[in-house]
Amino acid sequence: MMTAIIETSGLTRSYGDICALKPLDLCVPEGEWLTVMGHSGSGKSTLLNLLGGLDRPSGGSITVRGTDLATLSEDGLARFRRDCVGIIFQQHHLIPYLTALENVMMSQYFHSVPDEAEARHALERVGLGHRLKNRPGELSGGEQQRVCIARAIINSPRLLLGDEPTGNLDHKSTTMVMELLRELRDEDRFSIVMVTHNQEVAAWGDRTIHMDDGCLVREERTKGC
Ligand code: ADP
Ligand code: MG
Repeated sequence: MMTAIIETSGLTRSYGDICALKPLDLCVPEGEWLTVMGHSGSGKSTLLNLLGGLDRPSGGSITVRGTDLATLSEDGLARFRRDCVGIIFQQHHLIPYLTALENVMMSQYFHSVPDEAEARHALERVGLGHRLKNRPGELSGGEQQRVCIARAIINSPRLLLGDEPTGNLDHKSTTMVMELLRELRDEDRFSIVMVTHNQEVAAWGDRTIHMDDGCLVREERTKGC
């Protein structure tokens, strides 16, 4: 039987008068790579933030790995973010005065205890074993995003969320990042929900949902390269 990692029912989010997410029923099977597309302002980030426990719904339910996020306290939600999800954004949000290795270790610090060997291994997995001691400003955009991926996977999340993670990258770096994500997903078996504007990026996923004005308007299977 298919197990769902994400199930939402009538999920909504409003900001005052603005209904950013209209009642959404969504089921994401364990292991799926789901792409979210849509115009700017269509509610993609709103959805992703709810899935990552960065925000709370206005209505409906949202269950991730069997936990109803609406029932969690602030501490419970923080634990959920720490233990279950890894997030990659368009901007890298790396700490400029820390090295690549230290940036990854920061994430371990908030989860449990920093472990330099493990952090080094994560950076080796993303092909940055030779850039451990470099600060973000000394890395290319693609390399910075790879540090973010190492940081996102270091605590073995079951769900990886990406909000336009390749939005600032050129074609070559985008392809490298996507290949890397596929490799890591195949090894670690996590699920992915990724927002993108790029058709090529969407082609790496298993399924694409299209959003418009806060609604899921269409979905399609993709080949999942
Ligand atoms: P997308 O990621 O698809 O570009 P968003 O989810 O960021 O869209 O935004 C959806 C709608 O909700 C937009 O109209 C946006 O202005 C509004 N919105 C998003 N976040 C907030 C917020 N924190 N406060 C007020 N309005 C917001
Ligand atoms: Mg957005």
